[in-house]
Amino acid sequence: MKYDIIIVGSGFAGSTIAYKAAKNGKKVLVLEKREHIAGNMYDYIDENGILVQKYGIHSFHTNNENVYEFINEIGDWQEYKLRARVYIDGKYTPSPFNFKTIDDFFEASKAEEIKQHLKNKYPDRNSVTIVELLECDDDVIKSYAEFLFEKDYRPYTSKQWGIKPEELDISVLKRVPVRLDYTDGYFDDKYQLMPKTSFYDIFKNMLSSENIEVVTSCDANEKIKFLENEIYFENEKLDIPLVYTGPIDELFEFEFGKLPYRSLKFDFQTHNVDSYQETSGVVYPMAKDFTRIIEFKKIPIQNIKGVTSIVVEYPVKYADGNEPYYPILTNDSILKYNNYLELSKKYRNLYLCGRLADFKYYNMDNVVERALAVYDKIF
Ligand code: FAD
Repeated sequence: MKYDIIIVGSGFAGSTIAYKAAKNGKKVLVLEKREHIAGNMYDYIDENGILVQKYGIHSFHTNNENVYEFINEIGDWQEYKLRARVYIDGKYTPSPFNFKTIDDFFEASKAEEIKQHLKNKYPDRNSVTIVELLECDDDVIKSYAEFLFEKDYRPYTSKQWGIKPEELDISVLKRVPVRLDYTDGYFDDKYQLMPKTSFYDIFKNMLSSENIEVVTSCDANEKIKFLENEIYFENEKLDIPLVYTGPIDELFEFEFGKLPYRSLKFDFQTHNVDSYQETSGVVYPMAKDFTRIIEFKKIPIQNIKGVTSIVVEYPVKYADGNEPYYPILTNDSILKYNNYLELSKKYRNLYLCGRLADFKYYNMDNVVERALAVYDKIF
């Protein structure tokens, strides 16, 4: 075997480990099922000359200094603060909800009352979760929370995940905060960035070392077998580390049954206008079957006149032929995942890493942080 490590998948999980290993003189083989590298971050210039993201909008944000340092080593970035809107009852209101949302939907004296109650209840906080608001013992706050929940969180969650909000792991509902001021921005992180040119360039750079061989359009699971606590690769016993960043249930041929994922259908459209919508992202909780519309020209600003490219996102069932985008976290699925995790521990040179292999709703920075830790563990 001419390699020191084999890595399955070229998203942030696989490419981070490949980059670090190659930099330290290791010979790396990266196998990627898709026709291209860069995982879900893959972007390209479309027929309108606009940089679009094939798997939906990705904007980088982190508070982690190590991750920030690492991503600056692998590419050039520009500051970019994502702003988004939610469309409810014929009005566009900020996402995450903030005090403007209260002004948008309640008459002035009621709006003042809600804001005052929120300030009194949470004097030192900038934001809270919808779960905290729903459980609050203040009736004014609770009824505001129920308004938000019924107009947005409930319909959005049911559509996005295909199950009732009550069935979802509570961590998912806590992801999007409710702001307690007028701050208008999607993330709060210290660093909010987009690549200076493209995500693709950053991944190309990460995998450019002569120590790395990348094979695309290659399903690694066809080459991997498990037998008596050993991993076999192309029928040979494997003694080097194998990093796997694909779906963990697929790796073990669904031994404990399929893990649930949510998929998406992307409807890319061209519109002959300068601007399609006010912000790069608009969420439609009450629309029948789509969740959001993204306008790529605004992430970050691309100076192209008279035409714009958008994508409408439809959450769909995960079935053969479409991609597993989001692990669906419920009590049952977490138990099932734990069975796979236990099984993986039988193989001393197997390392799981990433959103699908760890069955976690990671953002890009979480994945980089995890990949740096896995790299340290391996070498
Ligand atoms: P991936 O990017 O999915 O990479 C895994 C790779 O493994 C894929 O390329 C896949 O083809 C390959 N693979 C799988 N199985 C095999 C196999 N058998 N053989 C060979 N290759 C295989 N995060 C943010 O921080 N900000 C955002 O704005 C954001 N927006 C998102 C929007 C959407 C619509 C989605 C779905 C996710 C978003 N995320 C965002 C999360 C982000 O996509 C993930 O954190 C990131 O993709 C995780 O990287 P990864 O390497 O674990 O997985």
